Amino acid sequence: MRHRIEVRPVPVPEWVLHWPQCSCGWRGDILRTRPLAVDQADEHLTEHHPDDDVVQPALFDA
Ligand SMILES: [Zn+2]
Repeated sequence: MRHRIEVRPVPVPEWVLHWPQCSCGWRGDILRTRPLAVDQADEHLTEHHPDDDVVQPALFDA
């Protein structure tokens, strides 16, 4: 199974939260900053799917 991470923006008043999600169905915590969301996504990939083919999303380059 491939794991493609998407960090979705979650607008709240005067801020945008970041919600890491994976194409395998995994959903992370809604976090205050994108780096925190990316870190949690990395943990998901390394801890739960260390041997799978991981697609590095272009999103991370933004
Ligand atoms: Zn996954």
